[in-house]
Amino acid sequence: MKKIGVLALQGAVSEHLNAISLAGALAVPVKHPNQLRDLDGLILPGGESTTMRRLMKKYDLFETIQVFAKSGKGIFGTCAGLVLTARKIDGNDDETLDLIDTVVVRNGFGRQKDSFEAAIEIEGIESGPFPAVFIRAPYIASVGENVEILASIDNKYVAARQGKILVTAFHPELTGDNRLLELFIASL
Ligand code: GLN
Repeated sequence: MKKIGVLALQGAVSEHLNAISLAGALAVPVKHPNQLRDLDGLILPGGESTTMRRLMKKYDLFETIQVFAKSGKGIFGTCAGLVLTARKIDGNDDETLDLIDTVVVRNGFGRQKDSFEAAIEIEGIESGPFPAVFIRAPYIASVGENVEILASIDNKYVAARQGKILVTAFHPELTGDNRLLELFIASL
C-alpha cells in the first residue's frame, strides 16, 4: 500500500486525507520532518502560500521537503502548493521550494469573489472533463522545457508535471473526483 502525506500546517488538509483513503492509499497528516521518512509522496494543499512558507520554515520542513523531492519522491502541489513548488513567483522574490521549472502568478484569476468552477480537459485523463474548483487561484505563466503542460484556460496553464512533481492551480480534492490523485499515486 502506498503511503501519502498531506502537509498539515495550514489549509485544505482533511479533504485530501479523505481522498487519499478513498484512492486506496494510506493517508498521513505531516507536521514534523521525521514523518516524511517512509512516505511515497506528499501533497502540498491549498491555503495561503505565505503562511505555509513561514510555517514550513518554522517547523524545519522547507529544506526537508526539498531533500524528499530530490530523493525521487512525488509531490502533488494544489493551488498554494503550486505556488510553493514553483521555480519563481512572478513579480516578487519570495523564496520557493523550486521543485518544478515554472513561473507562477499568484491570485492570477482575481480575488476570492472571482472563484469559479470549470470542467476542463486534462492531458492523461481521457475519461471526460475534470471538475476544477478555482479559489483565489494562481496560474502558471511559463514553463521550462522539461515541464509537461496538462491543462490550460485561456492561455493560463493550470496543471503541469515534471517527473514526479504534479501541480494544479485548482483544488482537485473538493469535488469527489479522484482521477488526478489516482494518476499521481500511480506515478509513485
Ligand atoms: N492565493 C493563495 C496563495 O497565493 C492560494 C489560494 C488557494 O490555495 N486556494 O497562497
